[in-house]
Amino acid sequence: MKRIIYADNAATTQLNIKAFEAMKPYLLEEFGNPSQPYSFSRATKKAINESRELIASCIGAVPDEVFFTSGGTESDNWAIKGIALQNVSKKTIYTSSIEHHAVLNTVDYLARLGHCVNYLSPDKNGIITLDSAKSVLCDNADLVSVMFANNEIGSIQPITELCEIAHSKGAVFHTDAVQAVGHVNIDVNALGVDMLSASAHKFNGPRGIGFLYIRKGTKIAPLMHGGAQEFGMRAGTENVAQIIGMAVALKDNIDNIAANQKHIKTLEKAFLDEINNSGISYVQNGTNTLPGLISLSFPGYDGEVILHRLDLMGICISTGSACDSVHSQVSHVLRAIQLDDSYAKGTIRISLGKDNTEEEIYMIANALKRVIMQ
Ligand code: PLP
Repeated sequence: MKRIIYADNAATTQLNIKAFEAMKPYLLEEFGNPSQPYSFSRATKKAINESRELIASCIGAVPDEVFFTSGGTESDNWAIKGIALQNVSKKTIYTSSIEHHAVLNTVDYLARLGHCVNYLSPDKNGIITLDSAKSVLCDNADLVSVMFANNEIGSIQPITELCEIAHSKGAVFHTDAVQAVGHVNIDVNALGVDMLSASAHKFNGPRGIGFLYIRKGTKIAPLMHGGAQEFGMRAGTENVAQIIGMAVALKDNIDNIAANQKHIKTLEKAFLDEINNSGISYVQNGTNTLPGLISLSFPGYDGEVILHRLDLMGICISTGSACDSVHSQVSHVLRAIQLDDSYAKGTIRISLGKDNTEEEIYMIANALKRVIMQ
């Protein structure tokens, strides 16, 4: 099999082997429905409870503030629609223009239902500034949703401060932390957020599972109606094995977070040094970025062509977000930071993970240099 160098960890990550091992019994032997009262189901019920406790401890929450969902998209949909649809009144919602489509298409849908949706714009570095938030937010705000870190350029937002501003306007604050959970330290109480979305496959957990943190006392309507699972707030028989895998993967990332960050930042620096020494002209997008998320724009080049040339060499990178890869036009994020078109079209995203090696970094840098310089 051809050697693959995987540098697209913002799209998805490889499953943690400890998570896989922990999941196995619950895919085969322990298949009892957690809602059933007989003793055979006790193991699955207990495993779910323990996973919820583990996840809560990783983000500074209490267990019954953690609700399992099918992933980041569902968590975002629930957080936003759950506030908008809790009663019949039309809501005033604020979000940013650089959110993932899981947020943007949700608020767009709500706008079509008559809710009032407003957008905060980032500065050229991809940051939603406090001044812009203070000037845009009005006193009757119901919900503010700003992502923790952007998936295309990695910029980490001033969430604590934005949350304070939202609260001062009477709004509930949600953050889509899908790219950040498991990679940077998150404490929901230090942040002050009311809701936070996460997705396991971004932190070496299984795909198709995630969670929504909902602070106790937050008034929110359920998204899925049906049985009494998830404290009556998210119906549907639990995805037991995935829940367990998610908890084990998150705990493992959190236990090793400092070492992982150090390793990834060292790789990032080595990569950028290589590119800088080659004299290639480029800009790096975003400031205060997630470790290892590198968005580079090469003026006059086509990001798609770079991606496919690297693919032929066995290297996986992205041009923007994976969910955007079917659209070849300039992404909404690059537009929002007002990147010049000739740079925006030549943008690639390299997202390094804890399993990347120094050897791989030099191979990616050399391959990229060959593509750009020939
Ligand atoms: N939010 C952000 C910031 C993302 O990067 C993604 C996925 O790329 C999502 C939401 C959607 O997550 P999921 O793939 O778990 O539905």
